Amino acid sequence: RGGAGKGPRARVICLANQKGGVGKTTTAINLGTALAAIGEKVLLIDLDPQGNASTGLGVGRSDRTVTTYEVLTGQTGLQQAALSTVVPGLDLVASTVDLSGAEIELADEAEPQRQLQKAIAGLPADYDHVLVDCPPSLSLLTINGLVAADAVLVPLQCEFFALEGLSQLLRTVERVRASYNPRLELHGIVLTMFDRRNNLSEQVASDVREHMGDQVYETVIPRNVRLSEAPSHGKPALVYDMKCPGSEAYMQLAREVIRRERAQANKAA
Ligand code: ADP
Ligand code: MG
Repeated sequence: RGGAGKGPRARVICLANQKGGVGKTTTAINLGTALAAIGEKVLLIDLDPQGNASTGLGVGRSDRTVTTYEVLTGQTGLQQAALSTVVPGLDLVASTVDLSGAEIELADEAEPQRQLQKAIAGLPADYDHVLVDCPPSLSLLTINGLVAADAVLVPLQCEFFALEGLSQLLRTVERVRASYNPRLELHGIVLTMFDRRNNLSEQVASDVREHMGDQVYETVIPRNVRLSEAPSHGKPALVYDMKCPGSEAYMQLAREVIRRERAQANKAA
C-alpha cells in the first residue's frame, strides 16, 4: 500500500484527557503498536513535553534532535521529524521539554491553534493513522491536537471522579468543534486500569456506560503490571510481553477502533 492510488489521507486520532496518569500515553503506545501489528501504517506524535511516549518507544534523549517542538514552530515538517521505532510500521515524532516553551512562542503565530493541523496537512499519504498523545491539560498544546484531529479518544481511569473530568473535556471538544474544527468527533471512551476485584472499578464502569452509552468502547483495559513495566524497557507491552492481559486488551481495542471507523465510513457513504 501507499503512494499513488491510496485512498483518503490518514485518520487523525487525538488521545486527550486533562487528568494525568489515566493511561493516555500507555494507550497511544500500545494502540499504535496494535494497529501496526494489524498492518496499518501509524505515526505517533508526542505532544507532551514530558516525552513519555518517546521514552516508552525506546527513543532516547540523544535521538530527539528534530521533535514536535520544531514541527509546531514551523521549522520542519512532520515527515522530516518522523523516526522509526522498535515497532515496524509505527513511526514517532518525539518530544522534549522544549515543547513546554512552544506555548508562548505559538502565541505570535497568526493561528496558534492550527499549527499541528497545518503540519498534518503537509504529511504524505503513507500513513493510515496518526495518533496524537496529549499532555495532561487543556492547554494550547491539547487544543492543537483537537483542532488537527478527526476524532478524540478519551482514556478514562476507573476511579471516583472520572465522570466529572469527562464533562469538562467534552465541553472543550464542543468549543473546538464550534470554533475551529467542525468535523471533530468523539471516537470513543476507553476504560483503563480496570480492576475486577475492586467494586469501585465496576461501579465507575457501569456509571460511565449509563451516561455515555455506546460511546464507550466494549474493550476494557485491565490494570496489568506488565503495561507499567514495559516503558522502562523502552518497549510497548505488546513487544515486551505479547501474551499479557494488557497486550491482549490493546489488540482487541485496535480491532474495535477499526470496526468503528469502517461503520462510520459506511454510514457517511
Ligand atoms: P497519562 O499519559 O494519561 O498521564 P500513562 O499512560 O502515563 O498516563 O499512565 C500513568 C501510569 O500508569 C504509568 O506509570 C503507566 O505505566 C501506568 N499504567 C497505565 N495504564 C495501566 C494499566 N492498564 N495497568 C497498570 N498500569 C498502567
Ligand atoms: Mg502521558
